[in-house]
Amino acid sequence: MSSLNDYSVEDDIPEQIYEINKFLPKLFKDDSERTYIEALQLALETSYKNGLYQFAYIQYHMLFMSVLYFVALKISWMHKEEFDKVIYYLSKGNINTFYDSKNTRNGQIYFGSFALISESDFFLILRVIGMDDDMLGRLRPFVETRNKFAHANGNMMMKTESKFVEKIEEYNNELEKIFKLLEKDIIDMYFQTITDPDFYDLEVRNYIDTDEQIIEGFIRINLLSTAELNCLRKKNVSEYKEHKGFEEIKNLHYALCHYYDMINTDDDYTSIDDKYLQFKYHDKAFEFIENELNIYESSCIKEGDEFPLYACPSCDEEQLVYDKKNNKYHCFHCDTDFSGEEILFCSECGKTMKNAESCICDTCLEEKCKKNS
Ligand SMILES: [Zn+2]
Ligand SMILES: [Zn+2]
Repeated sequence: MSSLNDYSVEDDIPEQIYEINKFLPKLFKDDSERTYIEALQLALETSYKNGLYQFAYIQYHMLFMSVLYFVALKISWMHKEEFDKVIYYLSKGNINTFYDSKNTRNGQIYFGSFALISESDFFLILRVIGMDDDMLGRLRPFVETRNKFAHANGNMMMKTESKFVEKIEEYNNELEKIFKLLEKDIIDMYFQTITDPDFYDLEVRNYIDTDEQIIEGFIRINLLSTAELNCLRKKNVSEYKEHKGFEEIKNLHYALCHYYDMINTDDDYTSIDDKYLQFKYHDKAFEFIENELNIYESSCIKEGDEFPLYACPSCDEEQLVYDKKNNKYHCFHCDTDFSGEEILFCSECGKTMKNAESCICDTCLEEKCKKNS
């Protein structure tokens, strides 16, 4: 699967140009939006690699504006009334054009709707979340510089890599500041959502699975970025201890934290070591094997393969899972981990044994002795 978030930093490309990924939505509602952003990323890399810094700059500017359009979309959801006032002002009273079917998708505004507004006017939407004059004074020159560069006047004005990187850093600094302004609203929206019975209550919510509910029902719908998820995962849910449905609210928060870890984890990730999954599948070893290891009992029976679920030698519960790929065992009841070498199977009855010195279990040994005597 290729997505812009999977882009790895190549040695010869400055890492600053990838910093913008942190502010882009992690998941898109519409695949065409993802394709558009990926195309921009590709154009940026291609220009850069060919030393066409002036064009790379223009493409970075477009990515920057795209990020801000997603921000504006969030503002329109969270501060509808104030947002409409700004749009009314910017459209000189002709607000219907903005909400017109030509400027919306499925009856709703989307990030591209903002392209209708001139870029330097657009920044005024950020007033709703507290942009001051200083910030506006720093944002508007971005558009002026871009305009200078974008005209086919035959001049290459940005010739050096260092000048390009310097400009990129200016953009990134502003993004940090803009997301800081948005932070409190995002936190409020998060807690409003997860403490809402329609969202947490298993009887009525859209997805039974905790991960799906948080990923599809919150992260994707609200176009959250890695930067925002990073801020939310640090929040403490324990202040909702007395709240009805706290158990579910807490699990949803854990699912969000886990999602953040998943997208920021490196390649040596193994699901059997994942503390969150161990918690999620407590006493549900069967579901863990099917959902996370993707080994299905029905196909094991059909193929004559072993379904890797055993009785735990520590607690006797049938909750011990074997992960063949990593040669590890974990008990989803008593939470004990075993290495592949620690577990042996009795050659007589097949029972699991821990660090056994003989190849048959105590019960079978006793039986044998009785028979022989
Ligand atoms: Zn156990
Ligand atoms: Zn035995």
